[in-house]
Amino acid sequence: MKAVRLHRYHERPSVDEVPEPAIKGPLDVLVRIGAAGLCRTDLHIYEGQWEHLTHPQLPFTLGHENAGWVEEVGSAVSNLAAGDTVILHPHITCGLCRYCRAGNEMHCTSSRFPGVDGTDGGMANYLLTDARSVVKLDPSLQPADVAALADAGLTAYHAVKKALPLLYPGTTALIIGAGGLGHIGVQALKAMSAATVIVLDRNQAALDLVRGYGPNHTVLADDGAAQKILDLTDGQGAEVVFDFVAEQGAEALGWNLTGRGGSH
Ligand SMILES: [Zn+2]
Ligand SMILES: [Zn+2]
Repeated sequence: MKAVRLHRYHERPSVDEVPEPAIKGPLDVLVRIGAAGLCRTDLHIYEGQWEHLTHPQLPFTLGHENAGWVEEVGSAVSNLAAGDTVILHPHITCGLCRYCRAGNEMHCTSSRFPGVDGTDGGMANYLLTDARSVVKLDPSLQPADVAALADAGLTAYHAVKKALPLLYPGTTALIIGAGGLGHIGVQALKAMSAATVIVLDRNQAALDLVRGYGPNHTVLADDGAAQKILDLTDGQGAEVVFDFVAEQGAEALGWNLTGRGGSH
């Protein structure tokens, strides 16, 4: 099969011919990939920023935002069948450690992270994962439409969900960055909270896109942007600031626009 493999840091990944993965354990699931998202994290991996965190053994196949169809299941898998449309949680987890049992699978003490830690990811025809990581979808959904939800969507949703107790009616949420994470954050906020939503971005096209999701205000991140946001919040700043950029000055701006007793 074909796979997008990273051989050396700072060197373009190549499309290689590699053997198809095969079912080994009873809970293994082989997924025929329909779509794999390209994430900023892939750029960080390419730059070697994950080296000291996960020590991935190169080369390996990139791709941690994956969706597709079940090709084959191990002997103990009872919740999935060949042909099911699925999206994959980015982590492969044990289900037995303290963190998994508490519902904090991202902190699993014996996890693998396909496409990130040297485990082969989904920028390939097939990906081998575990039944716990596979979420069955309505068959009408197309993998290319949903693959990025496996990480970018999950990340933005998780942040909004965590902040919900702070976002009662009358509060304001500021979203910095209306890109891959932020445009989903806006949708999550509008669906789950009663807060007034302000979105800030440098890119007018990104603001035009999120306007369709119903934020109360969109602000172009020019020199006067901070003042505009203060004006929209009675000079106080927002109760909750979601910084989906966290670089190039956004980190300082986020603090400056966080109101008294607010959360950043
Ligand atoms: Zn990602
Ligand atoms: Zn675990």
